[in-house]
Amino acid sequence: MEALQRWAAYHRSKYEGSVIAITGSNGKTVVKEWFAQLWDSQKNGKLFRSPRSYNSQLGVALSLLMIEGDERVAFIEAGISQPGEMERLRQMIRPNVGVLTNIGDAHLQNFSSTAELESEKMLLFADCPLLIKADCTIQDINSQNLDLVLSIYRKLGLHHKPQQEIESLAMRLEIKEGINNSTIINDSYINDLASLTIALDYQNRLPKQRRVLIFSELEGGDYAQAAAIIARNNLDLFVGIGEGVFENRALFPTQSYFYKTTGDFFNLFDNKLISDSTILLKGSRKFAFEKISAHLSAKSHTTFMEVDLEQMAENLNRHRALLAKDCRTMAMVKANSYGSGSVEVAAMLERQKVDYLAVAYTDEGVTLRNGGIKTPIVVLNADPASYDAMVEANLEPEIYSLSSLLSFISTTRRYGLSSYPVHIKLDTGMHRLGFLENEIGELHKIISNQSYIKVASIFSHLAAADDPAQDEFTEGQIAKFRTMASELPAALWHICNSAGIERFPQAHFDMVRLGIGLYKDAISLKTRIVQIKNIAKDETIGYGRWGVAHKGMRLAILPIGYADGLNRRLGRGVGKVNVNGALCPIVGNVCMDTVMVDVSKVDCIEGDEAVIFGNSPAVEQVAAWLDTISYEVLTSVSSRIKRVYIN
Ligand SMILES: *Cc1c(COP(=O)(O)O)cnc(C)c1O
Repeated sequence: MEALQRWAAYHRSKYEGSVIAITGSNGKTVVKEWFAQLWDSQKNGKLFRSPRSYNSQLGVALSLLMIEGDERVAFIEAGISQPGEMERLRQMIRPNVGVLTNIGDAHLQNFSSTAELESEKMLLFADCPLLIKADCTIQDINSQNLDLVLSIYRKLGLHHKPQQEIESLAMRLEIKEGINNSTIINDSYINDLASLTIALDYQNRLPKQRRVLIFSELEGGDYAQAAAIIARNNLDLFVGIGEGVFENRALFPTQSYFYKTTGDFFNLFDNKLISDSTILLKGSRKFAFEKISAHLSAKSHTTFMEVDLEQMAENLNRHRALLAKDCRTMAMVKANSYGSGSVEVAAMLERQKVDYLAVAYTDEGVTLRNGGIKTPIVVLNADPASYDAMVEANLEPEIYSLSSLLSFISTTRRYGLSSYPVHIKLDTGMHRLGFLENEIGELHKIISNQSYIKVASIFSHLAAADDPAQDEFTEGQIAKFRTMASELPAALWHICNSAGIERFPQAHFDMVRLGIGLYKDAISLKTRIVQIKNIAKDETIGYGRWGVAHKGMRLAILPIGYADGLNRRLGRGVGKVNVNGALCPIVGNVCMDTVMVDVSKVDCIEGDEAVIFGNSPAVEQVAAWLDTISYEVLTSVSSRIKRVYIN
C-alpha cells in the first residue's frame, strides 16, 4: 500500500492541471458527479474524476494513477474512517482547491467527536490555497449539495447552468434485481468512453454468464473506439438506442438490436431476450435510461434494503488488518448474508479473495454455486439427508458427531471420492453442535482408518467472546480447543468470530470467521412516505386505537409492516423512524404492511424517504428497542423486500 501510495503521489506531482479534492461525511460522490455533469454539459474541456466512490487509502491512489495528464481539472474524492488516514491522503492528493461537504455522523464511531472528525478532515486542506465549504444553514441536503456545486463553479470562474439541469441525476452505479432472473447495473447519467470501460469491467466481475449491454448515444461520440471496447468484452447481446448509434450500427457486434428512441425500445424489444443475464444500462441522461431500469426491475416496492458492498469490503479489510499475514478468513454468508443477499455479497467477497465462505444449509451453498461462486464453501448445519447434493455442488460439510462422520464417509465412498475436505467442529463449552472431549479418541481412530475424507480444518465456537465479564470462560474455551485439536491430525485451526477477532488476537490461529463485523453499517432499510395527513386532537390511530393524538398531529403513512420484518413490538411509541434527519416515533400498532409515524416536528412531504435503520437509527439501536441483537433485526427483513446494491 505504501509503495502504491508513493507511486500515486509521484504521478500526481507530474500533473499540471488543477486538483480539486472533496471530503466530508455526506454527498462527496454526489457533488463530484453533479460537478462533472455540469462540466461536460458546458464543454469545458477534459475533466478527470475519481470513479464512483474510490475514496479510500487504496481508492485515492488508484484514482490518481488514472490521471492521464492532459486534463484541465482532476476531481478527487477523499474519505476516511480512522484518525491518521487523512494525512496520507493529503500527501498523495495535494489539492489546489478544497471542498468540504456536510459533516454528519457517518464514520463517527472511530472518532471521539464531530469536532475531532472535522479537524481530521481539514488536514486534507492544510496547504490548500482555496477552500470551499458547504453552507450548513441550508436545511435540505440536496439543496446544500447543489449550492456547493454552484459555488465551486463560481469560485473557479466558470459559468453555470440552471439548477434543474443537474437535479435528478442518478448518483451511483446501482445494482438491482431484474425481471426474468436478470441483474441490472444502472449507470445511466453519462455515457463516455472512460465510464464505459469501467462499467464493462465491473459487469465482467459479476458472476452471471450471459452479458447484455443496453447502450445510448455517446457523448463526444467516437463510435469506432466504443465499438472496439465493446468487442473486447464479448457480449452476448448488444442493444443500441439513439440515432447516432443507429447510424453507426455496422460497427457493432452481430448479436444486436437497434432503436432510434427509448420509446421504440419499450414498444418493440422482447424482454425474454434478457433472461438470466447481467444487463448493463449505459446511457446518457437525455435517453432517460432510469425508465428502462424501472421497467426491467423485478419488484416495484418503495421499500428496499440498501446494501453497501463497498462498506462491506472496507469492513472486511479492517478486520483483516488485525490478522497475522498468513491467517486466513472465512466469511459467514449464512442466512442470505445476514439478510443482505447471497450471490451479490459472495461475489464481492470472492473478488476480495476471502479463503472460505460459510453457509448454514446445503441449499444456500447450492444457490451460491449456481450463481457462479467458486470459493470453497463450508456448510455448518449439514444435514446428512443433503450430503449427496453437497458433494454434487462441491460443498464442504461441518462434521459434528460420529454419526455425521460415518454418514459422510459412506456418501464419499459411494461417489468414489478420496480426500474430500471436511471441517471438524469441537464443542468447547457452547454446547451446540460439536464433538465432546470423550469422543475425540473414536473420532481420531475413524479418520485415520479411511481415505475418503480429509480434515481440512478443526474449529470451535466461542459462546461469549463479546462479553468482558465472561473472559475467563472464553480463555477456558480457547485452552480446551488447543488440547482437543492437538489430539487430531494437523489441519487449519479456527475459533474466533467477529468479537473474537477484535478481543482475542492470541486465538486467531490459522483462520478466523467473520460474520456481523462484515455487515456493520453496510445495510439500511428504507421506505418512502406515501401519505401525510393532519389528525385532530383526541383522534385515535390504527388497530385497537392504541395511537392517540394528544394534540393536533401530522401523521405520515409508510408502506412497511410486520410482514416486511418491521417488528410489531416497535409499535406504540417504542421505535422511531428517521425522516429528513429527525427520529419520528411510531404511533399505535404496526400493521401487516403499513406503519404510521408522528412527523409533527419535521419538515417533510409525501415521497420523502424514511429510514427504518441505517445510519440513524443504527440497527443496534433498533435491536435495543426490541431487547434483542442486531443479528435478529437484520435477518428478519422479509425476502419480499428488494435488495439494492451500491458500490
Ligand atoms: C455465525 C457464526 C459465526 C460468525 O459470528 P459473528 O458473531 O457474526 O461474527 C462464526 N462461527 C460460526 C460457527 C457461526 O455460526
